[in-house]
Parts: sequence; C-alpha cells; structure tokens
Amino acid sequence: MSLPLEVPARQLIVQKFGGSSVADAAGIKRVAQRVVDTQRAGHEVVVVVSAMGDTTDELLDLSSQITDQAPAREMDMLLSAGERISMALLAMAINKLGAKARSFTGSQAGMITDGIHGKARIIDVDPHRVRTALDKGAVAIVAGFQGVSRESHDITTLGRGGSDTTAVALAAALDADVCEIYTDVDGVYTADPRVVPTAKKIDRISSEEMLELAASGAKILHLRCVEYARRFGVPLHVRSSFSQHEGTWVLPSPDDKITISEGVALEQPIISGVAHDRSEAKVTVVGVPDIPGKAAAIFQVIAKAHANVDMIVQNISTFGRGKTDISFTLPIVEGADALEALKAAQGEIGFEDIEYNAEIGKLSLIGAGMRSNPGVSATFFQALSDAGININMISTSEIRISVVTRADLLDAAVRAIHSAFNLDAESEATVYGGTGR
Ligand code: ADP
Ligand code: ASP
Ligand code: MG
Repeated sequence: MSLPLEVPARQLIVQKFGGSSVADAAGIKRVAQRVVDTQRAGHEVVVVVSAMGDTTDELLDLSSQITDQAPAREMDMLLSAGERISMALLAMAINKLGAKARSFTGSQAGMITDGIHGKARIIDVDPHRVRTALDKGAVAIVAGFQGVSRESHDITTLGRGGSDTTAVALAAALDADVCEIYTDVDGVYTADPRVVPTAKKIDRISSEEMLELAASGAKILHLRCVEYARRFGVPLHVRSSFSQHEGTWVLPSPDDKITISEGVALEQPIISGVAHDRSEAKVTVVGVPDIPGKAAAIFQVIAKAHANVDMIVQNISTFGRGKTDISFTLPIVEGADALEALKAAQGEIGFEDIEYNAEIGKLSLIGAGMRSNPGVSATFFQALSDAGININMISTSEIRISVVTRADLLDAAVRAIHSAFNLDAESEATVYGGTGR
C-alpha cells in the first residue's frame, strides 16, 4: 500500500497576536478565522494575545491622571486587564465560527514569575490547564504579558512587549513545533519600516543577531522572548496577521544555518540591520572621586533601585583634578527611582552633581559579519559625519556598534547608516496597522 506523498503532519503551534492585530472587533474576527483555519488544517493551536490596540498605553495614561506614584502591585492589576479583554473576545469570536475555545489568564495558564512588578521574570510554567483544553479539542487562548508571583501570589507583568515572551515560554513548556509571532509588518526588517520605509525584510536571522537587535531597541520582538527561544531551541516565525506572506525565521542556534544544497551553508550578510531606541535617558554623575571603589558604589546603588544600566562611559571630569565623570544610560521609566537612590547616596559616595537627559536616542548597527570584516566602524562613523550628526556616547560588542545622539537627530542617523551599508530595498515595506506608539 502506498501512502499519499504529502500527509500534513499534526503540529502544536503557538500563535501570538500583538495589539495591532486585535485592535478592534473586525481585527479579532480576522484573527479568529486564522486560528480556526490552522486548527481545521489538523493542528493543535495555543493562542497568546496582547491587549487591543494601544490599550496598555491608555491604561497607563489613565493611571497617571490619578497618581504619578501608583503602587507597582496595583499597576500590574490594571495593565493585566488589557490582555483579559482580548482573550475573552477572541474566545467568543472563535466560538462564533463553530470551534471550541477556552481563555486563560496568565495565572490560570501556569505562568509563574518572580515578584518584581512591572518586569517580572518567568521562573516556571505549568500549562496543565492549557494542555487539558487542547486534549478536549479546544483552542487554548492565553492572556500575554502576565503571570503570578510564586511568593506573593500577586499578579505580575513581564514588561512592555512581554506577550512575545509568554508565547515562547508556553511553546517551550508544551514542546510546540513552532512559535508564530503575528504583528503588523511582514517580519523582521533591516530597520524599523516606520523610520526607514525602504528597509528590507530578512528571511532568516540567527538568534544571536536577533538578540542584539532586540536588546538594542528593535521592539519587533521582546528581548526575553529571543533569549528564551534560543535557550529552549524554539523556532520563531515572525510574520504579519494581515497577510499570508512568509515572514522571518529566527533560528535558535548558529548550527541551524540555512543549507542551500549538499550541506553548503549560505554565506551570512555582514550586517543584519539597524536598531534604534528612544526609551533611554542619560545620567551623568559629575565629579566622582577618582579612586578605586567609586564606580562599584554607584552601580550598587543603581542595582538596588532595580534599574538596568546599558551604556557606560567614564571620562576625566570637567570639575577638577582627581575627579572623574561617569555617564550611563538606563530606561527612562527607571530614571526617577535611580536618581532618587543616587541622591540619597551622594554624601557617602562623594560626587559633586548629577545631570539627567531624556532627550537622547540610541542607534545600533548589528551584524555577525563585523567580527571578520574590518572597516565597518570607519564606514559607520563616516556616514554619521556626512549626515552632520554629533555623537554623545559610543559602545561596541563583537557584533554591534552603538551610539547615542540627540533624540531629534535619531531618525536621520538611522536612515544615513541604513543607506551607508546598502541595506535599502527597491520598494517600500508595508506597515499594515498599528500606531507605532
Ligand atoms: P505587536 O503589537 O504586534 O507586538 P510591536 O509594535 O510590538 O507589535 O512590534 C511591531 C513594530 O515593531 C513594527 O510595527 C515596527 O514599527 C517595529 N519595528 C522596530 N524595529 C523593527 C524591525 N527591525 N523590523 C520590523 N519591525 C520593527
Ligand atoms: N500589552 C503589553 C504592551 O503593550 C504587552 C504586549 O503587547 O506584548 O506592552
Ligand atoms: Mg510587541
């Protein structure tokens, strides 16, 4: 007996839909159809949803009209509500199409986190209720971006963009075949298509480069989602929920290089893309005594305030001899706490002053080929110079060059660098939805 040649294999697929994909009732119905089509093709489907459209930002705005010092626990209660709205509406829409669906909060889906509100880390996943729903033939829908603290049993959130991480964590725990991240562009591009309309879609990218892009502010994927996918070997497929186009595959390990034929690995491009970030501020601690232990003291204070330091630069102080200035960047949202903690330690550490500047932008050029290709920095700095852009700070890794510029020059800087490395496509990228907020 001969078997038919193409038996579609039954797969477990995790599909995550971002806020722009479920922005309104029509969007939710469209997503429901896509989910049901996947299930009817013979697959088990777990769906992770974000809050509708800009709901999370609107909830933040609302709370800021009440207080600028919202208790972190209550902020998480508030923000986690956004994802609960979409999960229930999507379950209804799937039901309406004649398929079974059950929605679960992060807590019900077994997303166990630590207790750091606003940026909790997943420490365990126990998806037995999700598994049971699948076994009963239902689509399981999970609210993204949220979990429950193991210690306090309070609801936590994973940080902005965290639904991507929920999806990958579930994919890993359920041993899914693929985790599809549906968004409002056709995949990962060589730059944000909202800033560089001629950015090119990347078909495949190593998780190493994707990590650097995400860490450098390319918000197409949450950083911890990429880390998680890499650690657990989950294949990620980033694509649009508004089209049927193949998106970008993020390959979990460098060994998964795309082979064209007979084991010949495809040569990777030198540069994979340009990322930009407007979410950081620059702090300069002025007139720090130039003796051992002072940098340690400063960064211990910052760590205790739970702030994530990014770039660090130390320089001879303009203040006087025997003094040094230490500048660093950190997320704007962590700025106030960090400044307060530093001011409290000023006497003990003995620095003169603190300067704070939130009007900065960071640009990063990323490419694994930088390791073996001299001349990348020369082209990079020449392009910025030709565009008349002054540089505030510089940092590099093996596969990345980052600079801080004035915020209002950032877009021009991104476009200049993108062109200087010949990354522009012939035609413009499609942005299907979203407000870019
Ligand atoms: P979602 O709501 O689906 O999670 P996000 O707004 O978080 O969507 O992420 C998608 C957006 O990421 C795109 O609309 C685009 O503006 C932005 N973006 C930033 N860098 C890139 C990049 N390199 N490639 C594609 N999109 C990018
Ligand atoms: N709704 C959350 C946010 O806007 C989480 C997410 O969309 O991934 O950040
Ligand atoms: Mg996102």
